[in-house]
This record gives sequence, C-alpha cells and structure tokens, in this order.
Amino acid sequence: MDISSLSRQLNIPVSQLRFKMNAAGFRISPRANKIDNQIAKQVLAAFSQKPKTEQAVKNKDISLPKVLTVKELAQTLGLDVTTVIKQLIQNGVMATINEEIDYDTAAIVAADLGFNVSETPQTGLRLGLGYVEEVISGELAQAPADFVARPPVVAIMGHVDHGKTTLLDTIRKTKVVETEAGRITQHIGAYQVNKNGKLITFLDTPGHEAFAAMRARGANVTDIIVLVVAADDGVKPQTIEVINRAKITETPLIIAINKIDKPDANVERIKRELSEYGVLIEEWGGKVPIAKISATTGLGVEELLDLILLQAEVLDLVANPKGQTLATVIESNVSKTLGPVATVLIQNGTLNLSDQIAVGRAYGKIRVMIDAKGNKIKTAGPATPVQITGLSEVPDAGDTLKTYQDLDQAKTQATQVLKSERAKRMRAVGKLRLEGKDLNLIIKVDVAGSLEAINEALNKLKNAEVKLNIIEEGVGEINENDILRAQAAKATILGFHTKLNPQAVKLAQTKQVSISLYDIIYELVEDLTKQIVDMMTPEVVRTEIGSAKILAVFRSEKDRMIVGGSVIEGKIKDSALVEIKRLDQILGRGQILELQQNKAKVKEVLQGFEFGVSIKTDVKISDGDILRLFEESIKKRTL
Ligand code: GDP
Repeated sequence: MDISSLSRQLNIPVSQLRFKMNAAGFRISPRANKIDNQIAKQVLAAFSQKPKTEQAVKNKDISLPKVLTVKELAQTLGLDVTTVIKQLIQNGVMATINEEIDYDTAAIVAADLGFNVSETPQTGLRLGLGYVEEVISGELAQAPADFVARPPVVAIMGHVDHGKTTLLDTIRKTKVVETEAGRITQHIGAYQVNKNGKLITFLDTPGHEAFAAMRARGANVTDIIVLVVAADDGVKPQTIEVINRAKITETPLIIAINKIDKPDANVERIKRELSEYGVLIEEWGGKVPIAKISATTGLGVEELLDLILLQAEVLDLVANPKGQTLATVIESNVSKTLGPVATVLIQNGTLNLSDQIAVGRAYGKIRVMIDAKGNKIKTAGPATPVQITGLSEVPDAGDTLKTYQDLDQAKTQATQVLKSERAKRMRAVGKLRLEGKDLNLIIKVDVAGSLEAINEALNKLKNAEVKLNIIEEGVGEINENDILRAQAAKATILGFHTKLNPQAVKLAQTKQVSISLYDIIYELVEDLTKQIVDMMTPEVVRTEIGSAKILAVFRSEKDRMIVGGSVIEGKIKDSALVEIKRLDQILGRGQILELQQNKAKVKEVLQGFEFGVSIKTDVKISDGDILRLFEESIKKRTL
C-alpha cells in the first residue's frame, strides 16, 4: 500500500506517520513510498483514532484477567483503591492493596461499581496453559490407555530468608546423584530428584519470579506448592501472598516449618498463625500436611519428600508420552556460545533432539538438549525439565512450546507472535504521545527470569498519575537499536546485569538518551521511585488552625475586606488562608493580609478574643459569616 494513501486514511501527515511508524518499531526507509499490505493493516489498526463518544462509552466496558491485585483492579477501573476496597468489604471480601483476587470476585465488585465486565481472553497467538489443558483432556478422552503417571512439579515458596534456597540446595545435594564423575549439576531453572524410585520435579527459579512469569501468561505449571515458614519468625506478608495464590490457583499446599533446629523455634505458634489465615492443617482436621524441617541440617527433609509423593498420588497426575508434544518455558537467556537458550518443562508427549518447534516468538530445530545433571540427552518425557538450544530468539517464561512437521510452519507461528508483539508495542507508543505523564522505559537484562522479577517490582510502582510504559524489554546487551528506539519514544534505558556495547555508548551521547545500569533490583526500583515522585504533582497538605465568627464589616473593596470578629476555636493567624462559610456553604477563599487586636498589629489572636482583620478575597463577607482558618504546605508525594 502507498504510504500517502495510508496517511489519508489515518488523517495523519505523511512525515508524521513515517516518524510514528519508526518509533513503533517498523523500519521504514525515508525513501520508501510503499509498505507491505499486512503491515499497513496493523498500522491502520494501531493509529486510527476512534471517535470520542465511542471511547467514552467504552470506558465502562472493561475486561479483567483471571487473577489481579486490588491495586490493578482499581487502576483498570480508574478508581481510588479505597473505593474498591470498600466495595470488596461490602461483598464480604477483606483484601489489602497488593493482594490478589480472582476474576469472579473482581467482576462482582466492578459490576457493583457500574462496569460491564468480561474476562480477558487468552491471547490466541501465544499458546497458553489453557491450550495445554485442552489438548491433554482431548487425548485423555480418546486414548486413556496411553496415559501414565508423571512426576509432580513442585515450587518452593515463602517469605524472604525463611530458607527456600537452602532447602532447594539441600534437596539437590542429597538427592541428585551425579551420573558421571566430576559432572556438575547445572542450574537450568529446575531439577529432578529420585525418592524411592519415584521422581519429583522442583522448580529452581526463586518461587515468586517463576509464579509471576507464569501468571503473566495465564499459565501455572506447578502441581504442589511447598510453603516454607521459618519457625523462629512466623507468618509474614509473602507467606500470606503464597497462601492466597495457592487458594486462587487451586494449587495444593504443603507447609514446611523450617529452622526447627533453632532454640527459639516455635512450631505451635506457626500452626496457630497459619490457621488465622485459613490454612487448615491435617492435625487440626484440615487437608494441609505439615513437615517440620531444618533445611541446614537436613532434618525432616526426607519426610517432606514423602509428603510430596503422597500428595502427588492423591492428585493422580498423568500425562501422555505418546501424545502431542507440549512444553512450557521456565527460564531463558542468551548464551555467548549457544545463542538463545531455554529451559522447558515438558507437559505432554515427548521432546526429541532435532524436533522442529515454535515457542513464543522463537522457532528452530533443537540442536542440543541437556538435562539438569548436565547430560546431553536425545529424548525427554512429561514433567522433565530440559535445556534446549537452536532457537531463533529468546522466548519468555510461560511460553508454550509446540512441535511442527516442518520448520516453515513453526516459523509462521513464531513470526505471528512476533508481529502481534510489535503491534502491541506500537499501540503503546501511539498512546503515550497523547498523554502527558508517562515514564517510558526500555529494559534490557541478562536472563529472562530477571525480566519477570523486574516486572513484578515495577508493578508495585504503578500509580494513578505517572504511567510506566515498557516500550520494549529483552535479553542481551544494550545496543544501538535500543538507543534509537529510546530516542524515538523518549524513553529511558534500564540495564540489569547487562552491558552497554561501545557503539551504543557513543550513540547514546549524541542522541542524549539516558541509560542506567543496575546490579541490584532494589536500586533500580529506588531510582525509578524517585523519578516517578518527581513527576507527580506535589500533594497539598492542609492544616486547620481555627475558626472565627464575623461580627462587623468595616470596609469592602473590590478584592479586600476589613472586618471584625471573634475567634471561636483555635486561633486566627497573620498570613493564614481562610475559607468563608455562610449557612454551611463555602463562598470562597481568601488570605489574611493584616491582623489587629485592640488596634495593634499582632501575629495571632487566640480563642475567645476579638480581632480586626484585613482579608484579600473577592467574597463579599457579611456579619454572621464564619471564617475557617488553615495553612497549606506542599509535600512531595510518595508511592
Ligand atoms: P530464602 O530467602 O527463603 O531463600 O532463605 P535462605 O535459604 O537464603 O536462608 C536464609 C538464612 O536462613 C540463611 O542464612 C540460611 O543459612 C538460614 N537458614 C535456612 N534454613 C535454616 C535452618 O533450617 N536452620 C537454621 N538455623 N538456619 C537456616
């Protein structure tokens, strides 16, 4: 299609349209007059301006995901968090700002507040867990005999410092038997252990990151959550978060009360606290088993593994090794020597070396496949984590892998995902040009897992006033393309555990693009918080100082009045601000220019005394009016 005709259809001048398209990630040569029809269609969809009225009506039509936090709900509705929390309470749900609620709850509250709600559909292009479930249940109906028991997939979660990492390490050390002398176990984001001839798959990425990544794709690969609670510390905010997530995603919990070797361990207290948050332990007639462990000494860890296997049996976990091959990405990164690398957890079927696959925006032929022990393997069955190479791009955690008969098909699928991502980005860029307070970011990281962690951290910075737009995020070093995109979108580049290539440094200087590199998420968050707060309109804090009753009007000018009165509460102060009230109605504002008591100038007059005052105001004050006196100060906002 001609760019000029596109420009007419969109009612955007050609030069501006070229700029916009480039900003949105399409490389349009300055001399090209035509663009691909497919791309033209996407441009039309992204840049066409809808009539205002339609938008206004649309605002009441919202769609909500399966799970969201109270804050996210408030933002989607464009309402105060307190309004939403009040409505939740009215429906018998007690939830705080960062707590997650499920779609049903959110939908009821939104409907009560006058919105038309629908559930956000799973994106058609990215195959999610819904797709996996559909395939498996279809096969189960047709060929139940092909199904075999599969290992449970377990995530270890809990509050920081309660011992998750130590527990994962202890289990790995005692249970992963090295196959060949000297081979080191690989950290690929998951590992498998053998307990009495039965396998258990542990997700080895810090639990919260893995969960956030899966949630972003509507996927949840975890069969069982082991919730670690330190016996010397008790139930803490992240403990409660895990309890709620388990409830919402209907994932069974096993409680591991850790650090029982410590002298101040108090197991009974933990049980009591857990019950206060609705966790009903077996001992007290509920369903949740408890293991008392010490992750450092290994005490009770074998019993914990037994409990996991028992729970797995109850869950009757099965998969079809002969069925359609499907796997979910747990971790991904770029290796200098191997290119894009992903760890996937096989969920159905069998994955083989040389299989032709599409996964998210990536496609390729599996070149190397290794297991968590570092062994090169040729084939892997359900619930096995494997690391694969041979991909065209880095997929995201939570993406679903599918195999294809030929590579072209795989490529078509992956390219569609890539294009839809671009279009999404383009919409984001189109939008931010219309709005004032946007903080646009391009984020580059070392491994995909970091992206999830950063995204989760950034979610907490969301606020009603300054919008964080992630124009682009990816794995790898910061390059010239990133600089150009940042310049076009007026974005700041954030690098996490990543480098800046030398050409990019030069370009950033000439294009005046700001880049910040971080090694600690906390510091990144702190810097961003500062930037956001600086962008926010400062908060005006009002302090009431008193009230007075007008007894006489001495003089009335255009914008000044001289009146007399008596202080009925607090005090009246020179330079204070006033609100003038008559019969409970506020007539307007003013400011005190001069204050007198017994004809002498004073700084303030206290309750019970009379005064004379000159007030700058355009309200015509009359006797009987009430002055409410206050001061205002400007306070920097906090998040
Ligand atoms: P995470 O943040 O949940 O991954 O916690 P870590 O595994 O890093 O553990 C936090 C601290 O608690 C570390 O200093 C561990 O050595 C210590 N720790 C973990 N488990 C135990 C335990 O069973 N007993 C004792 N005494 N200390 C433990």
